[in-house]
Amino acid sequence: MIIPSPANIARFLKYYEFFRHPPDHHYQGEDDPDLIDPYIYSFEVFQLVNKLYMEHFIQEFKESYQLPEDLEKADICSLVKIISGVVMADRYSPGFLSEFIAQGNLRKVVKRLEIIKKEDEDRMYGSLLGLAVGDALGVPLEFKAPGTFKEVTGFQEGGSHNLKAGEWSDDTSLALALAKSLIESKGFDPQDQMERYLDWYQEGYLSVNGECFDIGNTTREALEHFADTQEPYSGPDHSKSAGNGSLMRLAPIPIYFFSKKEEVLKYARLSSCTTHQHPLVVECCTYFAHLLQGALLGEGKEELLSPDYQPFKEEINFELDEVIKGSYKTKNPPEIKARGYVVRSLEAALWAFYKSDNFKDGALLAVNLGDDADTVGAIYGQLAGAYYGKDGIPQDWLDNLACYNYILDIGRDLVYHEER
Ligand SMILES: [Mg+2]
Repeated sequence: MIIPSPANIARFLKYYEFFRHPPDHHYQGEDDPDLIDPYIYSFEVFQLVNKLYMEHFIQEFKESYQLPEDLEKADICSLVKIISGVVMADRYSPGFLSEFIAQGNLRKVVKRLEIIKKEDEDRMYGSLLGLAVGDALGVPLEFKAPGTFKEVTGFQEGGSHNLKAGEWSDDTSLALALAKSLIESKGFDPQDQMERYLDWYQEGYLSVNGECFDIGNTTREALEHFADTQEPYSGPDHSKSAGNGSLMRLAPIPIYFFSKKEEVLKYARLSSCTTHQHPLVVECCTYFAHLLQGALLGEGKEELLSPDYQPFKEEINFELDEVIKGSYKTKNPPEIKARGYVVRSLEAALWAFYKSDNFKDGALLAVNLGDDADTVGAIYGQLAGAYYGKDGIPQDWLDNLACYNYILDIGRDLVYHEER
């Protein structure tokens, strides 16, 4: 099923007025005004039905529907089934729609949709902001070995790039560049993404302080290859290239392609290949995109972290397979390490998510692992931000995050994007 996004829901809510006062909505023959042809809609209703179809609210062509006992709690998929069913039933038995409205059911559907839209938005903004918050919390601890530093409890200045408190690093810059590319290219354009990444590397585009002060080895190798060849899929795949550089910037993909699961997975893979084509990295990004999409849809934590919650049909790398099966549930530091090796970063982020029950505690667990603290923080923050929502991120962290409003605006543009 295609999941109606907040943008689809917003457009549906505009049509609601029309639905509340439906005109005489079946065609009446001109010669015989009493003749109502139930199979031919009036032009206005035809237009409305067409719009509902375009916004993915009509997907099942069954002429029946089941009203759940508790419409106030129905999920988006049930609502699509209800709307599809009512419209189809009305097509063959005129009067269904009017009855549905008269019984107050449409009012309830609309109320529920308003809530779902708000929750979806909150989770989407939470995922992008969570990434930046995790990055900013961890960046003062980057490259510090566990046990060699005082644990952080919030934003701190300093670190090896000497940033101000609340400033973030390459993880966020590259995620914002990916987001801007999706928005401005109106879809997935790897050439445009790489041009923006290169612009960041060479000119400091979307950097918190106007400079590229830190770059991963694999990303650098890919960008230099791209600068020479203009090949968008420039990511190396040699044994030393299995880093976390494409996992750390992933959130814009599941936000932008939210409605279609296959596209989330497909573009998660391709968005890694621009800079990281090692099969393990591509698999980690695919798995993580699957988790992010589930969290954006409001899945529970137990479901998300169950070994069966994974998108693969084929055999995958055994190290990732161990993580999916829950390696992090029985391990603790020093076995859990915030290393740049992609599968270790993913494991560390999932460990922090599993071991905590709110955004803040998990974020502090993640970044206080040290080492690649900012990136493990950014990976954790994408998932926890989607899961707990923007409202779940401490307000004083959001207030003190560098460029908060700018990141939130990009989040809005991602959610309410135009399509090609
Ligand atoms: Mg970084």
